[in-house]
Amino acid sequence: MSDTGRPEVTAYVALGANLGDAARTLRDALQTLGRTPGIRLTQASSLYQTAPIDSSGPDYLNAVAEVSTTLTAPGLLRALQAIENAAGRERPYRNAPRTLDLDLLLYGSARIDSPELTVPHPRMWERAFVLVPLAEMAPDLVAADRLSTVAGQAIERL
Ligand code: ADP
Ligand code: MG
Repeated sequence: MSDTGRPEVTAYVALGANLGDAARTLRDALQTLGRTPGIRLTQASSLYQTAPIDSSGPDYLNAVAEVSTTLTAPGLLRALQAIENAAGRERPYRNAPRTLDLDLLLYGSARIDSPELTVPHPRMWERAFVLVPLAEMAPDLVAADRLSTVAGQAIERL
């Protein structure tokens, strides 16, 4: 329990960046995440480099963070969006190259389907850049057959 009285929930956040100094952006975002009230950073994966999928521009750098949070799921999403905005993200069109993208993958065992938030993230199981870093940190969450589904996607651990 925390001083807000809400229990801590373990959540997983995917981070991606493909503009500017992407490695720096991801490291800064991890640090900011851990300093956000109501969020503790408990683990971070390595950084990975991947070719853009459904997007354009230079290669992406990706990582996954494990956090322990007293925020609600919508509250955590708002905190992630505030960090994206502070990193200078603009949304000129869907799937545009981005300085920083933070997606909420899992929030405890919650299933959420609201207009602004779907958890588990609906596309996470199709993406090597999510599953490979997630499996590095939390192998029990990613079954081997899930990983083999994305085995054709090029991903390099940095
Ligand atoms: P994407 O990450 O799909 O490339 P955006 O980051 O621009 O695109 O997100 C678009 C919208 O997705 C956000 O406004 C947010 O409300 C919604 N959304 C739904 N579920 C999630 C989730 N699990 N994590 C992050 N955003 C989500
Ligand atoms: Mg996003």
